[in-house]
This record gives sequence, C-alpha cells and structure tokens, in this order.
Amino acid sequence: MVALVLLASPGTMRADSDGAPAWLDNYRAPAARLISEATRDHFAWNRLAELTDTIGNRLSGSPQLDRAIAWAVTEMKRDGLDNVHTEKVMVPKWIRGSESAEVVSPSRQPLAMLGLGDSVGTPRDGIAAVVVVVHGFDELEAHAAGLRGRIVLLNVAFTNYAETSAYRRAGASRAARYGAVAVLVRSIGPDGLRLPHTGALDYASGVPRIPAAALSGEDADLVERMTMRGEKVVVRLKMEAHTEPDAESANVIGELRGREQPDEIVVVSGHLDSWDVGAGATDDGGGCVVSWEALRIMKKLGLRPRRTVRVVLWTNEENGGRGGLAYRDQHRAELPKHVAMIEADNGVFRPLGFGFAGSDTARQAVAGIATLLAPIGASAIVAGGDGADITPSVREGHMPGLSLEVDGSRYFLIHHTQADTVDKIDPAEMARCAAAMTVMAYVLAEMPLRLGS
Ligand SMILES: [Zn+2]
Repeated sequence: MVALVLLASPGTMRADSDGAPAWLDNYRAPAARLISEATRDHFAWNRLAELTDTIGNRLSGSPQLDRAIAWAVTEMKRDGLDNVHTEKVMVPKWIRGSESAEVVSPSRQPLAMLGLGDSVGTPRDGIAAVVVVVHGFDELEAHAAGLRGRIVLLNVAFTNYAETSAYRRAGASRAARYGAVAVLVRSIGPDGLRLPHTGALDYASGVPRIPAAALSGEDADLVERMTMRGEKVVVRLKMEAHTEPDAESANVIGELRGREQPDEIVVVSGHLDSWDVGAGATDDGGGCVVSWEALRIMKKLGLRPRRTVRVVLWTNEENGGRGGLAYRDQHRAELPKHVAMIEADNGVFRPLGFGFAGSDTARQAVAGIATLLAPIGASAIVAGGDGADITPSVREGHMPGLSLEVDGSRYFLIHHTQADTVDKIDPAEMARCAAAMTVMAYVLAEMPLRLGS
C-alpha cells in the first residue's frame, strides 16, 4: 500500500527542477508500478479480442449489445471489482436490414454503400432517380431548383471529422427541403480501400424524411465522373432501414471503492455500443477496455486510492447518447461528489496524453500528473475533454472533463466501417493507453486535495 501523503498546505506549488509540482513525488513510484503492470503483457488487447471475436458489433437494441453488457458484468466481477451492476437505459432501436445501391444507367455499377444510422428506408423496389452531384451546401442551394425528384450526391472531400461529418448529419434534410428523394454522401474519412463509413444522421423537423446512405470515396467519384460526361446517371437505392420502439439497455458500472473518501468519485469510461458493421473494436470496445483496466490494474497491485474510481461502459453513444444522459439524471445528486470524468473514445492507438476542459488550477494539476506519463510518451495536455457520454454530467456537475488523446492518423480510415476490427490495434500501444488511463485515474483519486473544478 502507498503511505498516506502529508502535505504542508493546499497551496503548495513548489516545483522540482523539472518544473513538476513537488507533491507529485509521492506518486512517481506507484505510477511506475502501474505503467509496468499495464504494459507487461497484452491483457487489454486479449480482453478486447474476446469481446469483438465472441460477440462482435453491438448496435443499440441488438442482442449482441445485451450479450456484451452481461459479459462485462461477469468479467468485472471476476476481476473482483466492487459494486458491479447495470443501470437501465431505454435506447432507440434502429435496424439496417438489407440494402444496396447501384448505378442502373448508363451502365450497371454496383456501389459500395452503407445506409446512414437512423435513416428511413426506401419502398420495397427502391428509389431510382437521376443523380445531381454537389460539393457542399452552397452548391446544394445553388442547384435548389433542380433537385425535385432527384438523388443528391454530396461529394465532399474529407478534411476533418467535425467539419465533414456535417454533410452526413444534415445532408438528408437539407436536400429534402428542395424535393430530393434520397441522399448519398461521400464517406466521412480519408480515402481508403473502397470502404463506406456509416454514422448517424439528424432529420430536421418539418422536412420530409428521405433515405440516406454513404458511398465509398471511390464510388462517389465514379458517379461524379459519369455525370461529368454529360450523361443522365440513374442510381437505384434500396434500403430496408427502419426504427422500432425503444429497447431496454444499460450502462455497466464497476468500482474500486475509495479507502478514505469513497463518496468522492473519479469516472473512467468508454462506450460499449457500436455501429452494426465491423466489430466496434476501435470505436469503442478499446476505450471500454482501457478504462476498465485502470481498476483491474490498481486492484491487482493492491493500490486502492483514497477516493472511488468508477468505470462506466456507456450504452447508445452512437445513435442517441442516451447512456450519458441517463447517468446524468440517475446520478444527479451525486454529481457534486464527482472529482472528474474521463472518456476514452478516440481509439487506442499510441497515446499522447489527455484533452482537458476545466479551470486553470485543475489543468495545472492534471498537467503535473501527466508528467508521470513521460516514460510512455503520453504527457501532453491539450484542449478537449469533451467526450460525448461524459459531457452531460460534466456540464451539469461543473467538473473537469478529460479525454484520452492518441495518435489519430489511422482512426478515421476505419471509423464506422467493416474494417473496425481488433487486428488494427497494436497490443503494445493499447497497453500504453491503459497505463495512461490507470495513472491519471489513480492520482486523481489519490491526491490529498481534491482536484478543483
Ligand atoms: Zn465512439
């Protein structure tokens, strides 16, 4: 066990020669032990592979997500975590069904597509219409008079996720305003190997709901080239997509109860639901496992911190965010006792550090803790901390939010695709992600003075 730390005063900000606050010295040895334990084997990767190989992808409302929830409960109990339980959440149940898109004129070309999450379907025989290609919303507006009865293809090159995903989210309703009958969007991701990327859309109220699907970048360019030759290009889109009544799901919770102030809580988290393609390994099975590792590793080493560390595996991040909202509502009375919440939902590639949102004082402390992650290259503290699931609670509880930040260069190649499988993840990099989560959670839960908001 770690000896109790005695500090002269809360304001002690005496710095070592390397600039780190002196209070950190007490955590150098435990941090080294935690890093060593996290990185000595491939436990995290193996646990993720078990989830994705034996259960597979986990869309909200699917039997696979139910199985994953039951599996996580069993495994958390096996790890010896405290207070393992589920918390009921009603989630939307969207079902893809079978789907296809093909160019039917001037020649037949089957297209690599994925319907967008929450899209409505087409009539049984599909929708066949002439395609109008545009490269952004300005161009869409400029062509407004010519969109009635057409399929709009938004062929916008990927820049970054925040910017380009707007076309996936809003494209259907923007085009429907002018009478378009369906929308195709170029996949949100860098060009890969003819992979379509799914993801949720948002229908605006007061506008007809039209079916929408993503095409691979290559197929979007194929359709565009055909139209550039001056021919009328007709595409037939068939989608059985539909939404059924809300289904019962759950957030999964496990704890390492604090040895002195168990009512004060540090949350580590990832989302257990995924899209219904690929295996949901990177998004976000990996984030779930590296969060959970924080508790397993502390428990294994007998490092039970002063405060409680709670792992939350969220349900329904991808198409509703109901898990994060339910936690905020179910734990409202307890939010003032939350010290910080961390979400890992950027992949489990080479860790760089943490995104942070909160006060300058808290940021300084977190930056100090992050210096303990120098041995694994994860010391950076950058703007961020805005995980989709933690944000409702972070906002309402006025507490610091953190996000695990990793080398993102490969993330969007496979994001929301059939290629999101465990083989894309390097076990050693994933182990370092687990180490970063473990050390950050441990020190936040152990430091003598509670982190300020
Ligand atoms: Zn995610």
